Amino acid sequence: MEETGRKPTAHLPLAPDTVVVSSGRPPREHDAPVNPPIVLSSTFHGSGPVVDGDRAYGRYSNVSWDPFEAALAELEGAELPALLFSSGLAAASAAMELVPPGGVLVIPRHAYQGSLVMATELAAKGIFELRVVDIAETEQVVAALAGVSVLWLESPTNPMLEIADVPALVSAAKAANPEAVVVMDNTFATPLVQRPLAWGVDVVLHSVTKYLAGHSDVVLGALVTSNAALRAKLLHHRSIHGGIAGPFEAWLALRGLRTLALRVERSQASAGILAERLLGHPGVEAVRYPGLPSDPGHQRASAQMVGFGSIVCFQVPGGEAAATEVVDRLALWTPATSLGGVESLVERRRRHSNEPRTVPENLLRLSVGIENVEDLWADLSQALGAVQDRLGS
Ligand SMILES: *Cc1c(COP(=O)(O)O)cnc(C)c1O
Repeated sequence: MEETGRKPTAHLPLAPDTVVVSSGRPPREHDAPVNPPIVLSSTFHGSGPVVDGDRAYGRYSNVSWDPFEAALAELEGAELPALLFSSGLAAASAAMELVPPGGVLVIPRHAYQGSLVMATELAAKGIFELRVVDIAETEQVVAALAGVSVLWLESPTNPMLEIADVPALVSAAKAANPEAVVVMDNTFATPLVQRPLAWGVDVVLHSVTKYLAGHSDVVLGALVTSNAALRAKLLHHRSIHGGIAGPFEAWLALRGLRTLALRVERSQASAGILAERLLGHPGVEAVRYPGLPSDPGHQRASAQMVGFGSIVCFQVPGGEAAATEVVDRLALWTPATSLGGVESLVERRRRHSNEPRTVPENLLRLSVGIENVEDLWADLSQALGAVQDRLGS
């Protein structure tokens, strides 16, 4: 692993909320910087043979990626440095190439829309067979695993917040094919809430754009694995397909990561409060949040996660028009796609033409930020009340 800039201590391993602050620091030398520098160099000194993993050239490796790659690996409990990519989908593209030609990819019907579109297009070209499943229905997933090459997991799913029985699905995939690779998109939960490698997942995927960077100012992705052979394939993909991060973006991601624990703590607490209040609001038809005891995923989430994440979804009576009106009436919540930033966002997911038809038209997704929860609730409640009054009159 990379030099962390910490002195070796007797009390390692450190807690995750310490790791986000202390990992990925430059070595402790007199007058050395406390933060890693941004290194702007497209090429590196060398005259010997070049192999994958060598610094050599700015598409293979970059000094500015190292601190973030070391910190994320430590957070996910990986034995090898993470791999930073230009976006979450660039990382997904590398992970999806782990399906061999003619192989089988099993994916949740509510996986991230971009991952689903990518899988559907590759399958349509005949590159592999695609099996789309309801990831919360363990028996249905197990039945689809015959000959599986890659099992793609997401939990909670986007935006339906279904919870997969991850340990059971990992064992079932390995039983169906000992060579099977399990990839898990851990963007929604973050490594502070669940650590998929500990369940036997082979590769963890992140849209770093979201919680890890946390300020809605960069687009980045990452893959994490402890399997050296898989990491070599993924690194090769990055080097050859070229989906690499810029040095400044990598620096911003590490800068954002420093406050991840505080941000997640605050936004999760607020999400729990808002979900409860939405559930009791007469202008709300249904609420999805794994933290609610009434939620179908509650039991699994309680067993698997430390907290329940900061995404809350709900439906309003009155269909698409009423849902859009709620969004338009919100003054503090920002109407925008994406999630995981310090500012609270709201979106009617079906405004995207390729959102699965199983996502209701009147479903709103909240990405709860770190503002004062009473201000967030006051805004939601005025918008819901106004729409409800209009529908009732
Ligand atoms: C946003 C997102 C992605 C894609 O990441 P980009 O950084 O936008 O390319 C993948 N998975 C999930 C769960 C996401 O939310």
